[in-house]
Amino acid sequence: MKEKRWLSIFLFFLLAMSLVGFSGCEEETQEQVQNAAFPLEIIGDVENPITIRAFDDAPEIYEIEHREETKQVISLSELISMTIPRGNDFEVLFKAHDGFSVLISGEDLEENYLALDQDLRWEAINFKHPRSSNIKNIKNIVILSKDLPIGGGFNITEPGENIAQLSIGRFYKDGYSVFSTVRGTAMQTHDGEDYSATSYYRYQEVSLQNYAEIPDTASGIVFGNKGEEEPLAEDGRFILRSNHLSYMQGDQILIPETRGIVLNPPQKRITHVYEDTKTLLDEGEKVLLILVDGLGYHQFEYARANGYIPFLDGLPEPEMAMVTYPPVTVVNVASSLTGEIPAVHGVYRRGIRRAEVPTIFSYTEEQGKSATAIIGPMTIIELEIDPVFTVRTDDEGRNDHIKTENALERIHQGYDLFHIHLKDVDRAGHNYGDLSQKTLEEIQRTDSYIERLVAEWDGKVLIYADHGMHSTEDGGDHRHLIYEDMFMPYWLFDGGMFND
Ligand SMILES: [Zn+2]
Repeated sequence: MKEKRWLSIFLFFLLAMSLVGFSGCEEETQEQVQNAAFPLEIIGDVENPITIRAFDDAPEIYEIEHREETKQVISLSELISMTIPRGNDFEVLFKAHDGFSVLISGEDLEENYLALDQDLRWEAINFKHPRSSNIKNIKNIVILSKDLPIGGGFNITEPGENIAQLSIGRFYKDGYSVFSTVRGTAMQTHDGEDYSATSYYRYQEVSLQNYAEIPDTASGIVFGNKGEEEPLAEDGRFILRSNHLSYMQGDQILIPETRGIVLNPPQKRITHVYEDTKTLLDEGEKVLLILVDGLGYHQFEYARANGYIPFLDGLPEPEMAMVTYPPVTVVNVASSLTGEIPAVHGVYRRGIRRAEVPTIFSYTEEQGKSATAIIGPMTIIELEIDPVFTVRTDDEGRNDHIKTENALERIHQGYDLFHIHLKDVDRAGHNYGDLSQKTLEEIQRTDSYIERLVAEWDGKVLIYADHGMHSTEDGGDHRHLIYEDMFMPYWLFDGGMFND
């Protein structure tokens, strides 16, 4: 018996030795691939929030001398570049697990590092900043932009006025309230006793009233980054997450990633293009549908006040209408032709070319009616009919004059629905800005094209735009939740009568 036991102890010893050999303890000390005790998030006013779990997640590992020892570190500025900060001028807020926070200026972060302490918790080593900034046990790092670009924050806007653009980073700095919602309760019986477990979600709630005047009774629509829309409800809540706010009601998250709110939105929407056209077709009317790409409501008003659009000025007063988010062509061509918002038709960004629901052209065909679409130079979304392309342009890239000629050749061919997409105003807006002289001259030319088309059309006319335009450093653009981009004029009237 005794001998056997000794033998087994000896065998065990051999086995243990071989295991140590295989695992290679030398390698372990060399690599030091250790996960941090807690992941580190870099969030706030950034395009691309990141989570760092180990040194390996950083672009490079450095060695520095710190308090008379050699330490492995990663570079703060390299991590921040990975997040793509919104704007060039920012501050950096370090937040520790215990709530202690340090805010440092964001310039010259070349000698700022992050290391892991003995307990594998993240700590800051900032050589140029005061020693008090060397915060330990960091939970997250928040970028606070001091020069948010347009569309880089949470926008609150209304017709005619952009009320505020709020920094997500600032919400982290200012603080938030925390509340919980019950997710569910589970029960289990063990030896005749009941045991329960209730799970909760914890949320960080931001009060927008602290930042902008939003009356309790204000009507509004909350917009999501994928074109979701929800009415602003009295019991709605905004939840701070990573680099955005989520919108919540009750215990439901309605919009995971919001872009902002439009207060006091107009009744008229771009989706009414579909509904109004359908109603008119049902009534046996013929419809001329003119899309003026990139004519914002403020541009229309400015052009009218300055005498650039004599024909449009003579029409019945247009309604102000709101487009869907994001205010770009493909999204709103889809919204106008399908009558749905992007969250339903699925075209919520550039690059998606097919709506998930049928367009008005499909409806027209089902009714045994005829339709044509004069478009170009490119396809915007796939249509159920073969459109007439106008590819040729003049030296300045214009082609609406050719498109108008193509339309006039076909306008008396008996179509029930006749669609034309004019693009020159948008092109000028991008090149020169929303209210520049050249853009106004393009709006003026478009006014004359519309006059010629309307004069030849014996039926109803619906004129609208897919988005507006705002000025940028080198021209103009449109894609944000701001009034310049979101509102447009909407006309519906009888054609032909202006011919006499
Ligand atoms: Zn455009």
